[in-house]
Amino acid sequence: MKPRIDRRAPQLGQDTEEILLELGYSWEDLQSLKNEKSSCDSIEPLAAQEKEPGEGMIEEITESLYKIEIPLPNNLLKSINSYVIRAGRRSLIIDTGMNLEECMNAMQASLRELQVDLRQTDFFITHFHADHIGLVSNLITDRSVVYFNRPESEIIETIVSGIFFRDLMNFTCISGFPENEAQELPYFRPGYDTQLRGPFPFRFLEDGDPLKIGDYQFQCVRTPGHSRGHTCLYEPHKKLLISGDHLLNDITPSIQSRFDKENPLKQYFSSLDRVYELDVELVLPGHKGVFRNCRERIRELKDHHQERADEIVSILREGSKSPYHVASEMTWNVNCDSWDGFPAIQKFFATGETTAHLKYLEEMGLIRKEMQGERMLYSSARTEDSVCVPVR
Ligand SMILES: [Zn+2]
Repeated sequence: MKPRIDRRAPQLGQDTEEILLELGYSWEDLQSLKNEKSSCDSIEPLAAQEKEPGEGMIEEITESLYKIEIPLPNNLLKSINSYVIRAGRRSLIIDTGMNLEECMNAMQASLRELQVDLRQTDFFITHFHADHIGLVSNLITDRSVVYFNRPESEIIETIVSGIFFRDLMNFTCISGFPENEAQELPYFRPGYDTQLRGPFPFRFLEDGDPLKIGDYQFQCVRTPGHSRGHTCLYEPHKKLLISGDHLLNDITPSIQSRFDKENPLKQYFSSLDRVYELDVELVLPGHKGVFRNCRERIRELKDHHQERADEIVSILREGSKSPYHVASEMTWNVNCDSWDGFPAIQKFFATGETTAHLKYLEEMGLIRKEMQGERMLYSSARTEDSVCVPVR
């Protein structure tokens, strides 16, 4: 059976989409906050679902490799790309959508159309974010293998145990978030549910490990930055890169830093450099359309972060500031009159991104960090009028 082809052009491309919904934030939450702050009109409501599950969501990218668009209801991203490789003995599904009925319906309808049997299917998950891994535990059978990375299986354990959110709350306060705004964040509301459910029959893959499915001979390329253990799949003979959220064409992947000791922006730059060296003709990203200009896109992403780093250095010349304070003075591509008009969740993601840049600049010796009581403050380490931050 020939799958239906959907060739709609993706359109998004605002920095606001960087706030993605990393841990399952819903449109209703945003909408209710937006109604309270009516000056903020940056976020468009979702169009009503016009399609039946599975209809028009499948695109054959290369032979036996299909992109399935899984809708993310009430979500700024609108959909996630799941990739299916149909093969004789075992098929492979790469990323799954969230643990929601709408995702399940779309996935099942698409798999029926592709005649893929879940009893003969394994899974590869690029990273632990709920829109990529959430549905997998509802799709597995007792014979399934879920290929994944070890660092993020440890994060999942802390999410399930609740430690993750306790640390997140602590860090949110240390980074200067006012307590009343922190209380508005969905993660700290009583009864908040990540919808992350096991079991996860993980088989861990390391950087460079092979993964052979039918005619596809993938290599794992570990690309930390967007998340700690993010892993892409590269097929050198076909020059394909399944990029997860490491490279997106219409959206700037969100690089967030919170309580972890790592330097995610530094990791992201070296991951970009690694992928730049690969011979890639076609990138298959986790969201929106596939694209060809891999190296050009990498340069654009680096330019973006260069501008952000420069902006932060110049903001800190005015004096010591908390990450929240620095974020409040940065330019955000959001149609809000002022920082005060941002919903708390946007401030949360903006502060996380700002912190990633602050950590990077601190490690480069361009800014300094100190603790003042329970608050983290950053200040400029240099006094020259013009400091260009070399991120490339
Ligand atoms: Zn993600």
